[in-house]
Amino acid sequence: MPFRQIDELERGEAVSWDIERDLFRERTGERVEPVTARQAGGHLAAVAAGFDLTLFETFLTDVAGHARWGVTAELALGRLDRLLAGVLASEAPGLTLLLTSDHGNIEDATTRSHTLNPVPLLVVGPLAEAFASLESIVEVTPRIVRALAGDVPT
Ligand SMILES: [Zn+2]
Repeated sequence: MPFRQIDELERGEAVSWDIERDLFRERTGERVEPVTARQAGGHLAAVAAGFDLTLFETFLTDVAGHARWGVTAELALGRLDRLLAGVLASEAPGLTLLLTSDHGNIEDATTRSHTLNPVPLLVVGPLAEAFASLESIVEVTPRIVRALAGDVPT
């Protein structure tokens, strides 16, 4: 599947990595209108409604963990929190929201590097039970595949 592009972002059919588009504008020079993180969450939910699986990646928390571009942990986590609120407020039928990370770094302010700490896993929605006993990040993808195939524990 191709990544969404600027045209889709301008129509609210995509979400930029920085969620509110201001840093995206600053870094790319693209003249997209800013949105609130909550609005971006609504956009993400609307996109997800058209697919079995939608992947949204933000590296805003990574930028904060590396202490770059003036992005603080408060800014990154605040935007992420409001994005999730926007997704959940959409009350999209059948939507399961899964949030995780491929490594730590924002949780430890004593280092500007990636960490080996456990990462969060948040799953909300009808397929959440499929992830209940998960203990390692390497189990996430196989569980997603199983859940999409209808293999969900009861
Ligand atoms: Zn990094």
